[in-house]
Amino acid sequence: MTAPPPASNPLAPPLLDAQGRCMTYLRLSITDRCNFRCSYCSPASWGGKKDLLDAAEFERIVSVFARMGIRRVRLTGGEPLIRPDIQEIARRLAAVPGIQHLAITTNASRLETLAVPLREAGVTQLNLSLDTLSAETFRRISKQGDFDALMRGIDAAAAAGFQSLKLNVVVMRGINDAEVPALVDFAHARGITPRFIELMPFGQGTPVPTAELLERLAATGRTLTEEPQEDAASPTSGPARYWRTTGGRVGFISPLTQNFCGGCNRVRVASNGDLRSCLGGRAQAPLHQLIRGGATDAELAMAVRRALGDKPEGHRFTEAGNGATLLPMMGIGG
Ligand code: SAM
Ligand code: SF4
Repeated sequence: MTAPPPASNPLAPPLLDAQGRCMTYLRLSITDRCNFRCSYCSPASWGGKKDLLDAAEFERIVSVFARMGIRRVRLTGGEPLIRPDIQEIARRLAAVPGIQHLAITTNASRLETLAVPLREAGVTQLNLSLDTLSAETFRRISKQGDFDALMRGIDAAAAAGFQSLKLNVVVMRGINDAEVPALVDFAHARGITPRFIELMPFGQGTPVPTAELLERLAATGRTLTEEPQEDAASPTSGPARYWRTTGGRVGFISPLTQNFCGGCNRVRVASNGDLRSCLGGRAQAPLHQLIRGGATDAELAMAVRRALGDKPEGHRFTEAGNGATLLPMMGIGG
């Protein structure tokens, strides 16, 4: 595959990848460290990288991407809310011209105190991760996490007035799969949209296919009506497919059984500034080094365009020995 021809102004939109897909969504990992260490995400051996970007460097990167057509930014990690400067990062990024949506994916453990300040800083959407309603099961999944704090954090987020709240549940056979109907009710009771994610092969556990979960939900007497998929070019479109049911919507993210790569509109930057064009791919552009070396915005934009010229058609999680380096999820930014 060849890269799209560089525009005369490399900063001018659209930002296209090698397949001609238009990138509108940036996932920015702001730390590769975490206070939870979930079994499917964080191997015991993961030590993390040392050289994290500061708030001004994230702002510079987001400004360049915004000029190239990125409209939506999600902060992720590791756990983004363990950064002491999280409010400053949120304030700076929300104010970047062109950025319409600033979202965070979090384990919710620090939201009791941070939900309102983050909304006031300009964060519009939160994805909250919760795999179980049982403190005992939670301890099997996350040896270090604080279950009570995360439950208080979810309630604080629900009360804080965000535009959109979603609950991410990674489903593991024999661990939390029986809780799917209860998690749907829990989320809907708080005005949150639950989403069930097929476990990707970064750590321990056995995935449960989406089709099986839909059957199980239907068996509880719920009517489920599939919603039409959003236009892939929209900055709000993502890999989730949604069904409408009693009480609200339910989403499913199915990286294993329904490859979602065709509509990919996203690019990832890791907490050390490495650009990765695909979750299942390799690092392609060291943006941090370029910034520290004095690169201009146009030079950063050229590096981004070159990296996207290498963006694969899709991830290859289900193939053995596919040649891509799979860092732990917390190393890439989930
Ligand atoms: N710490 C934050 C959190 O847990 O929400 C943000 C980072 S975490 C890597 C982002 C999302 O990736 C979470 O919703 C998490 O459940 C999901 N995730 C982590 N490992 C996964 C895996 N192996 N398969 C599927 N989803 C995974
Ligand atoms: Fe931490 Fe999130 Fe990974 Fe759990 S899923 S170990 S909370 S980064």
